[in-house]
Amino acid sequence: MDPAAITATVAGTAAAFAAIGAWGAFVPSSQLFGPTRRRTGDSRAIALTFDDGPNPTATPALLDLLEQHGARATFFMIGQRVREFPKIAADVVARGHAVANHTETHPNLAFHSARKVADELAKCREAISSATGREARWMRPPFGGRGPSLDRTAGALGIVGVVMWSKWARDWKVQPAEPVIERLRRVSGGDIVLLHDGDHHVAEGDRRHTVRAMEFWLPRWKDSGLRFATVDDWNSKS
Ligand SMILES: [Zn+2]
Repeated sequence: MDPAAITATVAGTAAAFAAIGAWGAFVPSSQLFGPTRRRTGDSRAIALTFDDGPNPTATPALLDLLEQHGARATFFMIGQRVREFPKIAADVVARGHAVANHTETHPNLAFHSARKVADELAKCREAISSATGREARWMRPPFGGRGPSLDRTAGALGIVGVVMWSKWARDWKVQPAEPVIERLRRVSGGDIVLLHDGDHHVAEGDRRHTVRAMEFWLPRWKDSGLRFATVDDWNSKS
């Protein structure tokens, strides 16, 4: 059901509007608060996206694996982590990957003012550009949380679009590698895959399950003929 239809169906009660707001803020496929990028736009290409780093206990290992398999990825970095580990952030770019904005401190933007959102995005952009020399042109809201002002605020800062995802590994909690590997079995051409090289709670989060899952899947995805897209391949939101 499209957003207009849902709005028409349930309009009239405050509770329903609150439900729509929550749905619009957190469901990756929701377009209620402006268009978002959820697919690569190429049925032969997937986009691997790693959030919440850089993280010295996981990012370098992932960079080695990606290089080994000739794959590129996008790293949605937290500004504070970039300031802690600027050399890792620089290495991500030096090794051919894309960087993108995941805010300065990882708040849920759905619950903050336009001014706070602008501050979070601007600080992260500054951290990334001073560490890597690269402008982060795309952003992903922490927790997928978007408010009605996000698009306008991001646009005013030169951000060209919001990137969500079409598949996730649910790898944000420490766990064995097997369930993460299993969840990624559903990935196919066109997917934007949500993964985590960092942990927004702690600077050096345990992401061995994610690294192991990439060890398993990168050669298989490559052998199946899939290519690896990054945000640098996109010029628009759709
Ligand atoms: Zn995050």
